[in-house]
Amino acid sequence: MPKPRVVYWFRTDLRLHDSPALKAALDLQPECLYPVWTWDPHYVYRARVGPNRWQFLLDCQNDLSESITKLNSKSKLFVIREAPQTLFQKLFKAWNITHLVFEKDTDAYARDRDSKVVKLAKDAGVKVIIKTGRTLYDPDELIQQNYGKPTMSISQAQAAGSKLGEIPRPIPAPNQLPDPGKRNLDFDQEKPTKSPDINAEQRDGDETSYHALAGPKNDFAVPTMEELGLKPATTPHRGGETIALKMLDEITADEVYTATFEKPKTAPTAFSPQATTLLSPHLHFGSLSSREFYWRAQDIVSKHKNASKPPTSLTGQLLFREMYFGAQAALGYKFAQTYGNAQVRFIPWHLPSKIDTATNLITGTYRIDDPEAQEYFVRWREGRTGFPWIDALMRQLRLEGWIHHLGRHAVACFLTRGGCYVDWERGAEVFEEWLLDHETACNAGNWQWLSCVAFYSQFYRCYSPVSFPQKWDKEGKFVRRYCPELEMFDAKFVYEPWKAPIADQKKWGCVVKGDGTTATEGEFKVYPKPVFEFSAQREKCIRRMKNAYHVGLRGSDKRVLNGSWREL
Ligand code: FAD
Repeated sequence: MPKPRVVYWFRTDLRLHDSPALKAALDLQPECLYPVWTWDPHYVYRARVGPNRWQFLLDCQNDLSESITKLNSKSKLFVIREAPQTLFQKLFKAWNITHLVFEKDTDAYARDRDSKVVKLAKDAGVKVIIKTGRTLYDPDELIQQNYGKPTMSISQAQAAGSKLGEIPRPIPAPNQLPDPGKRNLDFDQEKPTKSPDINAEQRDGDETSYHALAGPKNDFAVPTMEELGLKPATTPHRGGETIALKMLDEITADEVYTATFEKPKTAPTAFSPQATTLLSPHLHFGSLSSREFYWRAQDIVSKHKNASKPPTSLTGQLLFREMYFGAQAALGYKFAQTYGNAQVRFIPWHLPSKIDTATNLITGTYRIDDPEAQEYFVRWREGRTGFPWIDALMRQLRLEGWIHHLGRHAVACFLTRGGCYVDWERGAEVFEEWLLDHETACNAGNWQWLSCVAFYSQFYRCYSPVSFPQKWDKEGKFVRRYCPELEMFDAKFVYEPWKAPIADQKKWGCVVKGDGTTATEGEFKVYPKPVFEFSAQREKCIRRMKNAYHVGLRGSDKRVLNGSWREL
């Protein structure tokens, strides 16, 4: 029997440690193993990915490639610039491949893509092996244990998980890798039909017609940001399995922190260092395995007398991730939108008038053009609402790609039910572009939670942009860091600078006026006036939410689908 010739397809698992799929590939004892990354046109052209997340991805790829080469000097991560749906059938033939192995991905788009690839492989006589490794549980099994339903609460996720038995222990990284085989690309490799620049105009169209990034030479190299035509990243947070494992070592070296971690007690205003682990981007790219994280924390918890418990504990945080993956796996594309989604409440939000065409196609049936909402939305996005706590968070997000969970709570509540009354889907799009850790399941799910359309319903409990941050940071250090124009303000006014007497504003070098589009006035810096009077706006939102809850429409109701909800 000839030995297997295996393509190992890296996607959500940019690591060597604890990879059940990689282990399955190595268990075949292959004659050759090709570690491959193919540029997915969906990611390149359709998803909203800012430069910071691109940089993080390239970091992960470079680090993985180096680690592979350390185990076999003839090997590396072979980056190929063509859609998997068109590339693989040619590769299978040219490289005489017998097996294709990859980690299971239950994201809606990934399921579609993978089922096409599996069919092509089967048609080509190539065996396919798919293993779960992205989450603690296989999301499809979690749904089965939840009576076939999406996991819409943490208790459902916990109960379903417990029926699946103990979470498997992580698998060690391999200590050697087989040689790759010949790597001829002398088949008809598709020429790129589009400019290699990645920009929004290229998002529409048939996904498989895009051929990503010609690359300078056919050398399978990880491209640089310049080659991708991207602006330099601004985030200080860098990717890669080596960094992820080092971060995990440092976190778990502090056993008290690990064992007694409780999410609500971590400060959203802490920076350098932040109060939580900041491991989420690594979990997103798979440069850290969630089981490695779970067991490293759990082993410390087990020997600690006063350890905190799920869901607020560190291991409990990972269960929220499982809950959202389970909800998304059950609902597919509908999970990330209101339209057609039976699990979410329909709220007739004010929608800003400029909506990305791709999304408008999905949600356009209940679109309301509202110039005021447009103004709120743009000022929120650009960090110039005039509420320093909100603006500091949005600026940190854009600049660094990560903000603390309660910071995310604050800006999401402010944009939706607790301030601007703008649709949660618009906010989720901004997060999608800027977050390093953007994960469709967690992003959409958490936005639903914060806007009280699903998972959570206490819409009358809103975050104040003044008293909430004051609890954590009386001096306003966080605000001064990200809104430096307010650096000299007295702590009494740092969260409400519009209340400071004008003479003091001048003394502190910054006047409060306008909408934040002007940065200076004469010798003074300028910080915007509040976009609205917060208490009055909050009251208005609560009244509207009450009405919407009373009417009780869901995203899947006929009246929502055909627009007749307006007549109610
Ligand atoms: P830690 O507190 O150290 O938690 C450890 C890990 O648990 C995290 O890395 C993360 O993987 C997981 N986790 C913690 N809280 C949650 C949660 N509420 N939901 C899901 N997983 C959780 N998280 C994402 O990973 N991707 C997203 O796109 C995302 N979008 C969000 C949008 C909004 C509006 C909100 C309110 C939260 C969002 N979160 C998202 C959840 C959470 O804020 C982040 O996971 C967390 O802040 C990441 O920081 P950390 O790694 O320090 O978390």
